[in-house]
Amino acid sequence: HPPTSELQALDAAHHMHPFTHAGELKDKGVRVIARANGVTLTDTDGNDYLDAMAGLWCVNIGYGREEMAEAAARQMRELPYYNTFFQTSHVPAIALANKLAELAPGDLNHVFFAGSGSEANDTNIRMVRTYWAQKGHPEKNIIISRKNAYHGSSMGSGSLGGMSFMHEQGGLPIPDIHHIDQPHWWAEGGDMTPEEFGLERARQLEKKIEELGADRVAAFIGEPIQGAGGVIIPPSTYWPEIQRICDKHGILLIADEVICAFGRTGKWFGSETMGIRPHIMTIAKGLSSGYAPIGGSIVCDEVAEVINNCEFAHGYTYSGHPMTCAVALENLRILEEEKIVDHVGAHTAGYLAKKWATLADHPLVGEASSIGMMGAIVLTPDAEKRAKFAGNEGDAGLICREHCFQNGLVMRHVGDRMIISPPLVITDAEIDTLVERAWIALDLAHKQLEA
Ligand code: PLP
Repeated sequence: HPPTSELQALDAAHHMHPFTHAGELKDKGVRVIARANGVTLTDTDGNDYLDAMAGLWCVNIGYGREEMAEAAARQMRELPYYNTFFQTSHVPAIALANKLAELAPGDLNHVFFAGSGSEANDTNIRMVRTYWAQKGHPEKNIIISRKNAYHGSSMGSGSLGGMSFMHEQGGLPIPDIHHIDQPHWWAEGGDMTPEEFGLERARQLEKKIEELGADRVAAFIGEPIQGAGGVIIPPSTYWPEIQRICDKHGILLIADEVICAFGRTGKWFGSETMGIRPHIMTIAKGLSSGYAPIGGSIVCDEVAEVINNCEFAHGYTYSGHPMTCAVALENLRILEEEKIVDHVGAHTAGYLAKKWATLADHPLVGEASSIGMMGAIVLTPDAEKRAKFAGNEGDAGLICREHCFQNGLVMRHVGDRMIISPPLVITDAEIDTLVERAWIALDLAHKQLEA
């Protein structure tokens, strides 16, 4: 390949990036990743980075699994493409739908495929509204979500999301989407205990339903653990109360498992970890470990029966794409046969939690929390007061992220929270390295912030 500086110039000239302020990059240029293996990325200058984000929360089995490339090539030779519209199907989509029905809890037995998490959440909006319309309640079309949630970037999924800076661009949200507050105790809990706060936040759902009328509300959607919002682990009281409220008012519950599914929380699904019984689950990312773009909705018997009783006029050219389904099947085989999810639950999550918690002793850190294989630390000038830095929120996080990169570690910042979601196959020694490098980056960020 051409030298890095040339690649950076070509990238700047012609490549528009998601969630990037390109103007701010001008003098610096993008980091160009050349290859990856296990948990390690290598850039075009030969620098290695421990990828504590598993790409974008997705490379659950780690990079460089040859069997995945073979599964893709095998399927491309056999049947590179066919659709699943108009009463046709094919072997990989059938096999994957059946495998997901076997893995998913309860009566989540039916799968509608999409190409991404955003597309799957768009499917969910139309599916729950169609469900109620088919049952004779077309006015029951409001979906309640949460501020600071992330559900994707399309018009529908971006509207479900609760990120105000996204809503400011492009005319979001679409009508009949409402948002309640997030269960973020550290930032918003005030004097309440986490348990009191969890109940208070969950009961906002009930208030919202009563305000709008239960006859207008179709569904509630939430990530079992908010990911892109900053790995926000809700208090233990939160989800049971949300479940009770949905049950009481006959509201469909959608668990957006795009990050949480396929072992991320230490079980196959985040709903199992958090004790949620959803009617629909959104999946993507870890379904193929990011090796191929695929998403979907896993739907319960009752909703599927109603939807299957009409023509659901919805679908994507790549709904159940044969190659992506074959890659997802191979990924699930690896996760299952190598007992990767079991090992995370029995060992790795505990080891990560123990090591990650040590970062709470750093003077720049207010809180270090984790669940399964996702974690967050809060950068603060005063942990006791849960204080924020003077100046712009996120400046400290950005400084810390840069020091991570300089020291061979990919961590993401959300405001002044530093977050991780490493490949599930990370070894204990690699976790030690991750935490050591994070500590070095925190020291350097601390010095810079104090200067
Ligand atoms: N839902 C959640 C919880 C996500 O974290 C994401 C992506 O980060 C999405 C949906 C959107 O998925 P995609 O980027 O595949 O469209």
